[in-house]
Amino acid sequence: MNDIQTPVHGVAASALLDALPDEIAVLSPDGTILAVNRAWRRFAASHGACRPDAAGAVGSNYLAACRQGHDGAKAHEGIAAVLAGRSARFQMEYALATREGERWFGMSVTPLDAGWRGAVVAHTDITERRRDEAGLRIAAIAFDSPEGMMVTDADGIILQVNASFTRITGYSSAEAVGRTPGMLSSGRHDAAFYQGMWAAIGANGRWQGEVWNRRKNGEVYPELLNIAAVRDSGGAVTHYVASLNDITLSKAASDQIKNLAFYDPLTHLPNRRMLLERLAQALPAALTSGHHGALMIIDLDDFKTLNETLGHSTGDLLLQKVATRLHACLRQGDTVARLGGDEFVVLVEGLSAQPREAATQSEALAGKILAALNRPYVLGERQCHSTPSIGITLFCAGMHSQADEVLMQADIAMYQAKQAGRNRMRFFDQSMQDSISDRARLENELRHAIDTQQFELHYQLQVDRLQRPLGAEALIRWRQPDGSAVSPARFIPLAEETGMILQLGQWVLESACAQLRAWRSDPAMRGLTLAVNVSARQFHQSDFCGQVSSAVQRYGVDPALLKLELTEGVLLDNMDDTIASMQGLRGLGVRFSLDDFGTGYSSLQYLKRLPLDQLKIDQSFVRDLVNDSNDQAIVLTIIAMARSLKLDVIAEGVETDAQCALLGQLGCQAYQGYLFGKPMPAPALARLVGGGV
Ligand code: C2E
Ligand code: MG
Ligand code: MG
Repeated sequence: MNDIQTPVHGVAASALLDALPDEIAVLSPDGTILAVNRAWRRFAASHGACRPDAAGAVGSNYLAACRQGHDGAKAHEGIAAVLAGRSARFQMEYALATREGERWFGMSVTPLDAGWRGAVVAHTDITERRRDEAGLRIAAIAFDSPEGMMVTDADGIILQVNASFTRITGYSSAEAVGRTPGMLSSGRHDAAFYQGMWAAIGANGRWQGEVWNRRKNGEVYPELLNIAAVRDSGGAVTHYVASLNDITLSKAASDQIKNLAFYDPLTHLPNRRMLLERLAQALPAALTSGHHGALMIIDLDDFKTLNETLGHSTGDLLLQKVATRLHACLRQGDTVARLGGDEFVVLVEGLSAQPREAATQSEALAGKILAALNRPYVLGERQCHSTPSIGITLFCAGMHSQADEVLMQADIAMYQAKQAGRNRMRFFDQSMQDSISDRARLENELRHAIDTQQFELHYQLQVDRLQRPLGAEALIRWRQPDGSAVSPARFIPLAEETGMILQLGQWVLESACAQLRAWRSDPAMRGLTLAVNVSARQFHQSDFCGQVSSAVQRYGVDPALLKLELTEGVLLDNMDDTIASMQGLRGLGVRFSLDDFGTGYSSLQYLKRLPLDQLKIDQSFVRDLVNDSNDQAIVLTIIAMARSLKLDVIAEGVETDAQCALLGQLGCQAYQGYLFGKPMPAPALARLVGGGV
């Protein structure tokens, strides 16, 4: 401090002041700069333009220069007060635009020691301090966030928590500080969970995840936890900062959504969607593990009746109890789901790799389920009993099945269990599956055949005792586009079940009437009757009589030439209505023949009540008639019966002269069979008849 001549003496003092980083000047009582240190000079040289006060060199008046500076009036007054002895110290902080951007300074003005008048002015760069302070203020505000915050030291001892932490956990700051976060542990996570968490913090410096914690009041709640490690410049962890969000509500909402999507609200069991998902995982798992799995469909017998008689709430109660019992039958890892209604599914994995053993294992489980569901149920006030039918299918490494296929197999087996008398189990078998697939294919083809008219009618001759033509039976033929024929014995029952018989039957009826009409103009054919087979569903249509009458009228045929062949099955179904319908048709003049006679009930009782014209002896009695005395006795009885009821008799399936002769001896008056002609197209029949039989 060479410029300081008085009152400071000595090289040591000057060296000391020059070594200080603060900019220091000594002022005379009137504010004139008497001396400055090195820092002052350096600052003045580089920042002079920015800070008029610091530009002051020795000899200039600092007090006056201050007025122009930052907060000039305040600085001036403060310095003047110290110089005048009115004040022992003046301090102010100010910001200054420098070439390095805005910086903060602290100015401190103190009087010189006793005996000397004047003052020392020191400017200190306090930018870092100001920044730290601002950072702390920001941190304090951030810390006061709605998220729970917790700061621990490197050993995990809690140093600080915020108000939200207290709100979420129930622990006050005083209770938390000094303890470890272990006090929040719910016990729901195992050691591996925490090891994973610390490993992530070690590797990435942070971890985020959902954690179950326990509040002070004991309540366990889910939180979203965020942990970050704070490291010093050397990289050593000094603190951990954790933020925690209580996600009870959002978790509850998302759980509920998940619940709705994957669980049955009544029984809380997984629903079809969840089951299909599990099954889709189980199938490839069986493929890799080599173990069998089993899928069972459990359907309650007569649940519909119980539901309707005891009410739906009782039905619901039963379903809930069934769910509980099913659950109790299973091991951990097995799945029981409710598909809807009274249908439950059990999925079991990890059965034996041996098919037989796996079957035995699943049979044992199904037996256990049967027994459990057979126990009486107490439903409110009532006690009731319910039984299940169980269909089981196994899946294993050898089969690449799809989930819906496996479900369908179990369903088929369940249906078989029902057919077999209910309250039992059935395993799925492939031949059953094949026949069902065949049936489905045939159904499609039949539908298509109806749309594209792949049918024709053939006619089989019927003759009297002298083998003179009496008429014919119309028999439907289905020829597929590839030329192959499907037997009516195969597709008629299917058409019956699906209702397609209504369209088919109508077509047959119309075609038969058209044929009768065509025969009117041929003297050889004119008087022939035409027998038309009518199936149950067709006959029981409410306007069947109307359909027949309009067809007869439309084609202008003699109704007496039209003979409807019914089977016993058709007639027994609701006798009174049947008789009424038959009488209606008979009123038109239409005749009736009872087809396949002898194979059904054949009771005189009902035969007496029916307005029939003819009994048709089933071909099964004709086939072995010549050698089978039993068949002879039956045929004789039928003929006697017909006679007493004043009905005609015709035998079908007559193939040999011997059969024909014997039938004649037994009293039969009419015959139909290959002996006289196979079913054939109308022109062929006309040739047969015209050619003289
Ligand atoms: P169904 O009414 O008892 O017809 C007699 C069946 O015996 C016919 O078989 C006929 O071809 C066959 N048949 C006739 N004579 C002989 C013979 O000497 N030996 C042998 N082994 N068989 C003989 P198809 O045509 O296969 O018809 C089978 C069944 O299909 C019919 O039995 C009938 O129940 C039904 N059906 C045929 N056409 C129709 C139809 O148009 N409507 C309805 N609803 N059912 C029909
Ligand atoms: Mg027939
Ligand atoms: Mg028949």
